[in-house]
Amino acid sequence: MRIAVFPGSFDPITKGHEDIVRRALPLFDKIIVALGTNSSKKYYFDESKRLDFIRATFADTSKVEVEAYQELTSDFCQKKSARFILRGLRNGTDFDYEATIAMLNKDIGNGLETVLLIADAKYNYFSSTVVREIMKGGKDVSLFLPEPVTKLL
Ligand code: ADP
Repeated sequence: MRIAVFPGSFDPITKGHEDIVRRALPLFDKIIVALGTNSSKKYYFDESKRLDFIRATFADTSKVEVEAYQELTSDFCQKKSARFILRGLRNGTDFDYEATIAMLNKDIGNGLETVLLIADAKYNYFSSTVVREIMKGGKDVSLFLPEPVTKLL
């Protein structure tokens, strides 16, 4: 089984995240969208909301599972028998960050491979941060969110 973990904070999940997962579906037998929880970090949406949003987004595909985890990403991957980490790349800043983390995960995760997909041009400028800022300003964010998430808001 080719299992990939797509880790992130998904605060909230955007169409950019959704696109990465859907484009990766043909590459893997299963993708686990994994919500990393960092107790020292403040989130806009609580864990159960963020999980609901992700589950609603992928309700149509049995190949996608959704789970929260607390441990190191490489330990979570091992627990799930996943040999691949999936991430998205929007720009050079993402690249610098992802390259470092990918090398570390390969070292500490027994050859865990990171698969990086280039963000689609339509979603290249989408981020959870801009969605939160626009929401705080009271504006409509449906352009940025998967349809089922907009319905849940
Ligand atoms: P983290 O807090 O770990 O960066 P995020 O939820 O912000 O988690 O992002 C998870 C992954 O999704 C990262 O690899 C990030 O680069 C990628 N990503 C975020 N936004 C987009 C987008 N618009 N298009 C493609 N990939 C994206």
